[in-house]
Amino acid sequence: MDSRLPETSREKLEAWLRYYDDLGFGEFFIDRRTIGKRSVKAPAAPLQTAAQAAPIAAPAAASVEPSSASFSAIRGAPARILPVVPAASLFEVIDRVEGDTLELVRENLGECTRCRLHKQRNKIVFGAGNPRAELVFVGEGPGHDEDVQGLPFVGRAGKLLTQMIEAMGLEREDVYICNVVKCRPPENRKPEDDEVATCSPYLYRQLDVIAPKAIVCLGGVAAQTLLKTKDPISRFRGTWFDFRNTKLLATYHPAYLLRNPNAKGEVWKDLQKVMSFLGLKPRNPSR
Ligand code: URA
Repeated sequence: MDSRLPETSREKLEAWLRYYDDLGFGEFFIDRRTIGKRSVKAPAAPLQTAAQAAPIAAPAAASVEPSSASFSAIRGAPARILPVVPAASLFEVIDRVEGDTLELVRENLGECTRCRLHKQRNKIVFGAGNPRAELVFVGEGPGHDEDVQGLPFVGRAGKLLTQMIEAMGLEREDVYICNVVKCRPPENRKPEDDEVATCSPYLYRQLDVIAPKAIVCLGGVAAQTLLKTKDPISRFRGTWFDFRNTKLLATYHPAYLLRNPNAKGEVWKDLQKVMSFLGLKPRNPSR
């Protein structure tokens, strides 16, 4: 480590290096063309989908100009171009970590203190379910009950999610359930962008390891994080997207359904698309 660096910068740099080490980055390259520039224009990356360019916060708060990337919409729906956060540096692209496992991801996460959410959490909610699931549900972040139990979707919204899963002809144990952030945001507020940026690489790794056939994003935060858009979910729910070669569809969050039961019909239509893609038959209501 360069001893000419001020003590505080050195500590910050060490923390970032440890963080990237946890994520599997062993080598770093400096693009000398960008040194000293505050604004970095992202190189055009025509071969990279937005979803491959994971939103990992850059170590320095470099401002970046927006670029766009294409999403391949699947099954007849027209391809959509959504605005995305640009990938400006190596730090913003997370590659698949070779030999990764859910155990390793959990181990790397450790007793995480990387963002402010750790201060008030009770338990980290990593995720639960079948590590070989064909279907993964991604929520926003733990609520009170999840924070107490250390398990995802175990409160009121969780009970509704269980009903939705069972209506699809599955059991909770058949699927994997996780969240964008692993610690409960105080007062159940939405996670901040920097909290999402810090935590979401672990979600990417979970999804890469499980390699499901389909991902269902529950609510705007999950969908906006994985699709890298700020568009409201109402604009694109029920549409298939390509996320790192896996099909991804967003629908409303069960907590939203508890407040707006009229939206249940739309969610059921979305889930039926997933069922037809996975070849699932609805559960017989008399069971
Ligand atoms: N809401 C979420 O988004 N995730 C949970 O785990 C519980 C409620």
